Amino acid sequence: MKEKSIFELGKEGRRGYTLPMCDVIEQDISELVPRKFIRKKEANLPQLTELEIIRHFTKLSKNNFSVDSELYPLGSCTMKYNPKINEELAEFIDFRCVHPLVSEELSQGALHILYHMDELLSEIGGMAKTCMQPAAGAQGELTAMMMIKAYFKDKKENRLKVIVPDSAHGTNPASAALCGYEVVEVKSDNRGNIDVESLRDVVDEKVACLMLTNPNTLGLFEEHILEVSEIMHSKGGLLYYDGANMNAILSIVRPGDMGFDIMHYNLHKTFSTPHGGGGPGSGPISCKEHLKPYLPVPLIEKNKEHNYYFEYNCPKSIDRMHSFYGNFLVILKAYVYIRMLGPDGLRDVSENAVLNANYLLYKLKNHFDVSYDRNCMHEFVLSAQRFKKKGVRALDIAKRLLDYGIHPPTMYFPLIVEEALMIEPTETETKEMLDEFIDVMVKITQEIENTPEKVINAPCKTSLSRLDEVEAARHPDLRWSVG
Ligand SMILES: *Cc1c(COP(=O)(O)O)cnc(C)c1O
Repeated sequence: MKEKSIFELGKEGRRGYTLPMCDVIEQDISELVPRKFIRKKEANLPQLTELEIIRHFTKLSKNNFSVDSELYPLGSCTMKYNPKINEELAEFIDFRCVHPLVSEELSQGALHILYHMDELLSEIGGMAKTCMQPAAGAQGELTAMMMIKAYFKDKKENRLKVIVPDSAHGTNPASAALCGYEVVEVKSDNRGNIDVESLRDVVDEKVACLMLTNPNTLGLFEEHILEVSEIMHSKGGLLYYDGANMNAILSIVRPGDMGFDIMHYNLHKTFSTPHGGGGPGSGPISCKEHLKPYLPVPLIEKNKEHNYYFEYNCPKSIDRMHSFYGNFLVILKAYVYIRMLGPDGLRDVSENAVLNANYLLYKLKNHFDVSYDRNCMHEFVLSAQRFKKKGVRALDIAKRLLDYGIHPPTMYFPLIVEEALMIEPTETETKEMLDEFIDVMVKITQEIENTPEKVINAPCKTSLSRLDEVEAARHPDLRWSVG
């Protein structure tokens, strides 16, 4: 049955609210609001009982898929459980209600947190200074590209190119191109690393930087990272670290020690702030001393009297990237997460994330194809190409998983693996849950053998089955209207 919109429910005269008594002097609206803004006719709002409203929204909420209800092994996105204590602290009125225009003097507590978070993130990354303005990883990338551009302009070096490996996330070349750089792609070798010889061939004095994820998007650690960094630096180029995969290396190895000059974090991935659904995120960037002058303003600093203040006096800064200081409450949630775990807890996170991923990989690799037969880090990529002859694609397997109450893995990424299914279990899943996932995946491979139409026509248990994605993109139907 097609679900009714709220506008089709209810009857004239029903009420679903009780308002408290008015405790201010009632005023005529026409004295407060200019005439032209006042409605001529009453709004035609649906009239429902409280129960009708509750049922409607509860039903809708059950259509949501979330980490709190189901397994969400969406590779590269680190859909870990978000501890509820993060939310509780972010709800404190002292944090929630600090207006961004409150004076430095009256916001020392909030500034202390931002300052300490800068120290923590810089330490975790092996960097010198952090700016928490960017609202997402992609914005962090752009910020870094702008800083790198400013750095070379300052040095009067004309560098036009940015190198990315063929396994890179799409935002990497996009950020470089947006900043006016020519993007040069380098192949991966047969172990899934960036190909060192191909890199050597393209690096010259015209290259501004290399953008790299490590572990890369195949879930593999770059085995020659120190050599890669040596190649870049020997020609005066810089190394940018895409921190989306930090969940694999916390408290174990630091991008700064691998030779990276600048990086971003995805607080909404690694540091357990909610993401998905387009909500606010946070993509702080950290850099080493030589890039610090170019960071966005203001920076949070501490003076001799131990008071925190905003430092605007940074003449080489690329200026602002976000209003005020970024998404403060998101930063706060990530801060709580880091403080709750401490350095040893962070190491446990990564060790367990890597262990969980390897457990799945070893149990599943005989049922699918793997392009690189190596231990993985916190995620891995399977290929569903062997099922093509049965008419089944990675997309179909992903859809069938929905029928078993599991969120699909990332599909068709990275681009260099055919029929890719990229799986990231995260450290927060139990062995029982991992075993259940393995059983379901194996069961689907049996279905493909015996009753492939079951998989091709999936999902059948969700409120809607296969959507016409082309139609949805060309003619989106985003709001309800009469008739
Ligand atoms: C998620 C991701 C990004 C982009 O981060 P957003 O916060 O989504 O903008 C960049 N690189 C990789 C490898 C990612 O997984």
